[in-house]
Amino acid sequence: MSVQHDAVQRADFDQFMVPNYAPAAFVPVRGLGSRVWDQSGRELIDFAGGIAVNVLGHCHPALVAALTEQANTLWHISNVFTNEPTLRLGKKLVEATFAERVFFCNSGAEANEAAFKLARRVAHDRFGPEKHEIIAATNSFHGRTLFTVSVGGQPKYSDGFGPKIQGITHVPYNDLEALKAAISDKTCAVVLEPIQGEGGVLPADKAYLEGARELCNAHNALLVFDEVQSGMGRSGELFAYMHYGVVPDILSSAKSLGGGFPIAAMLTTTDLAKHFTPGTHGTTYGGNPLACAVGEAVLDIVNTRQTLDGVKAKSERFKTRLQALGEQYGLFEQVRGMGLLLGCVLNEAWKGKAKQVLDAASAEGLMVLQAGPDVVRFAPSLVVEERDIDEGLARFERALSKLANA
Ligand SMILES: *Cc1c(COP(=O)(O)O)cnc(C)c1O
Repeated sequence: MSVQHDAVQRADFDQFMVPNYAPAAFVPVRGLGSRVWDQSGRELIDFAGGIAVNVLGHCHPALVAALTEQANTLWHISNVFTNEPTLRLGKKLVEATFAERVFFCNSGAEANEAAFKLARRVAHDRFGPEKHEIIAATNSFHGRTLFTVSVGGQPKYSDGFGPKIQGITHVPYNDLEALKAAISDKTCAVVLEPIQGEGGVLPADKAYLEGARELCNAHNALLVFDEVQSGMGRSGELFAYMHYGVVPDILSSAKSLGGGFPIAAMLTTTDLAKHFTPGTHGTTYGGNPLACAVGEAVLDIVNTRQTLDGVKAKSERFKTRLQALGEQYGLFEQVRGMGLLLGCVLNEAWKGKAKQVLDAASAEGLMVLQAGPDVVRFAPSLVVEERDIDEGLARFERALSKLANA
């Protein structure tokens, strides 16, 4: 049965929606794999992936099947009861990672909120209220709730909302000396993205994460990795911490975890998890059967050698071509990132103009992202086909060529 919908247009956004977003001029209506179609029937290649979310592209048959099957079985039951999909996904995440315990919620911000609250609760229980300080990195992004913007290292997101959460210090990323100078016995947690995503697609140095781990151990502080963007296969390993060989105490996952269905998770150890006793924390939808059924299907496909090795091969294909385009058109001189989270760093002449590059790409039928004003970001599906990579990059080249010759 098909439902009759009212016709709506992009202009309706300005009339009915809170203006906290500024969406593109066209409205996507349908997607398949790495292609998307808008209301006018125009086809676009999707290298944005819904901001590093559509990890298996659009309408992947395994995800559609998992969702449809669960939709016909059980949608929601609340945490007054547990449910089979949540138990299956929880068990698989434990088996696949350092973690021994999982807490499910609905967004990256919520997973981080849980992580930060757990870190404070653990320190409070073990050492008393003095030990509550959190150290995070300049330019980091951890979500948009008041706690997570306060921990995030971008004042433009936290200023102007009244008093912030107290006890948070920011240090420059990849600067071990600065972290060493800031950490103390009052520190309850050090929070880092192994690859800064929103901050400009900047991977951590291995020595930095290793040093952070040692400093945390020396000060009884927890190491929290925000892998909301870097996790679930994007780096070419299931989680980026596996690349570095540095194991956190708490890890947050979201975005790709649901492949487009809202779900997030906080992973930790038994010893830490026990501080969240019944009633200390929760959320109505956390571990929802629909979300967990999709998450399980995502994990089953992403956590295979075939997918993860595919990410590495596709990454090389992107990097080689992007580097050549950088040299040819002179807009950017550096391509950085890991796996299928890549950033073209605009050079002096194009600094601040990432949005202009996005608009030019979109005019050629290509969706890409920015990561701040100076970086053009690519976060495509991990199973994007080679011909889509080639066609998308051909469109990107046309955009660069027009910009360079304008
Ligand atoms: C996107 C993101 C978040 C926030 O996730 P939401 O689902 O938007 O709340 C947190 N941390 C990182 C690293 C992110 O990239």
